[in-house]
This record gives sequence, structure tokens and C-alpha cells, in this order.
Amino acid sequence: MSLEGKVAVITGGARGIGLGIAMRLASDGAAIALVDLNADQLADAAAQLTASGAKVCTITADVRNRTAVIDAIETAASKLGGFDIMINNAGIAQVQSIAKITEEEIDKVHAVNVKGVLWGIQAAAARFKADGTKGKIISAASIAGHEGFPMLGAYCATKFAVRALTQCAAREFAADGITVNAYCPGVVGTDMWTEIDSRFAELTGAAKGETFDKFVGSIALGRAQTPEDVARLVSYLAGPDSDYMTGQSILIDGGMVYR
Ligand code: NAD
Repeated sequence: MSLEGKVAVITGGARGIGLGIAMRLASDGAAIALVDLNADQLADAAAQLTASGAKVCTITADVRNRTAVIDAIETAASKLGGFDIMINNAGIAQVQSIAKITEEEIDKVHAVNVKGVLWGIQAAAARFKADGTKGKIISAASIAGHEGFPMLGAYCATKFAVRALTQCAAREFAADGITVNAYCPGVVGTDMWTEIDSRFAELTGAAKGETFDKFVGSIALGRAQTPEDVARLVSYLAGPDSDYMTGQSILIDGGMVYR
């Protein structure tokens, strides 16, 4: 129970990797605030966590909105009695050729994946400083933040940006004892990948499932990841064993790329 007495705020926590992280941090002893756009999925996720014995609250909010992120942290801290860990997990996919991408498309993915993470880092650091908490800020980057892939240019650009924000924030907040790191999954079989695969099929004529299978085929360990695989790394980054680590964006991809 390495996180006993800690409070974690998890954006995009209603499903997929975010929910996997919530289940794991709850089993480590943390109280969990789930923040998401989707109120129905939030209720289902909270029911799962509560059934496992976790202390949980839900907050419907859009991470694109700076004030909403600040308010979400305030609500979580007052309902759960503190604030120690910020997980900036919310993100959306974007599949489009660089030759065709529109301003609207790049703005849409940037608003969630870059601005949303920036607001999360900013609001969490401000609250940690005000409370004198040596907090942990952990964000979702990606293998797509380490390597470029065709049809994923805008998405990759946002995930490289998360790595940049992580390094800059780590240096800015180190003197306050706040650490800032990121996790970089490879191919996790969530709803996001179902959407990516469908969009590849629509735009490139690939068969349904073909793009997912092609990506999984390049994983040395020979299988797609689960949210639990990612959550084990996040548990480490959120806990005391990673106290000396900051500014890092850790690949956990089953051996797709080596950095
Ligand atoms: P997902 O689509 O299954 O879940 C994302 C969650 O974020 C959803 O519940 C959604 O409602 C929420 N969300 C989206 N926009 C939001 C907003 N503006 N405000 C609040 N909540 C919002 O995705 P996932 O696969 O679980 O991915 C989670 C994170 O991990 C993302 O940042 C993603 O880019 C990253 N990632 C995923 C993979 C993968 O293979 N699935 C790989 C590498 C990185």
C-alpha cells in the first residue's frame, strides 16, 4: 500500500488506460478523483472502483478549459481531503496525412493533448506549491512522442510536446520538491485504438483490424498492451520509489522502439 493516505486526480479516467491507472492506484491505497468529459462512463467507472473498496469521487470536466481543470483539483482536494498526485491522462487520437491535415484538425488534437496537459501541470503545481506538497505530476505521452508514424503527424507532434512540457516543468518545479514525469505506452487495446483502426480503414482502404495487427506485429513481446501493463509503471512513478526521478518520459511498449 505504497500510496496509503494519498489523493490522485486522474483525467480521462472514465475508461481505458485512465481507468486501469485508477484501479491500480486505488489498490496501492490512494483515494481517486476521476475527471472526464463523459458523465455516464464516469459513473460506471466509479461503481467499479467503489466495488473494489476504493474511496472515489467523480468530476465531469473538459481538460481543454483551464478554469475547469483548476476547479476539478479544488473539488477533488476538498472532497477527498488532500491532493498529492496528478495524472494528465486525457487525450484524443488524430489520423490524417500531413499532406491533407486541416487547421481545424490540428487545433482539435492540440487543445486536448497539449493544452489539456499544460493546464493539468500548471494547476497541479500551483496547488502543490500552495500546500507545500512534494507532489507528483505524471502525464500521458506515447511511443508516438518518441517516433513519427505515417498518418499520425498531428498526434505525434502533440506527444512530442508532452515530453517537452515534462522536461521544462521538471526543471521549473524541482526546487519545490515536485517531480514531473510521463509514461509512453505503445499499442494498448482500448477504444482509442478501435477509433484509430477505423479511421485508417476509412482513409487508406486498409481492412478493419489490419492497422492494429500491423502495429502489434512490430512489438517484440508479441502482444498488445493492457491498461494494467501501463498502470504498473504509473504506480511506480506515483510512489516513493521514484522520488529521485524527474523530467523522464518512460517508454513502455513491449520493445517496439529503443531509446
Ligand atoms: P480512450 O479514448 O480509451 O480514453 C480517453 C478518455 O479521455 C475517455 O474517457 C475520454 O472521454 C477522455 N477525454 C477525452 N477528451 C477529454 C477532455 N477534453 N476532457 C476530459 N476528458 C477527456 O484512450 P486511451 O487509449 O485510454 O488513452 C489514454 C491516454 O494514453 C491518451 O492520452 C492517449 O493518447 C495515450 N496513449 C494511448 C495509447 C493506446 O495505444 N491506446 C498509446 C499511447 C498513449
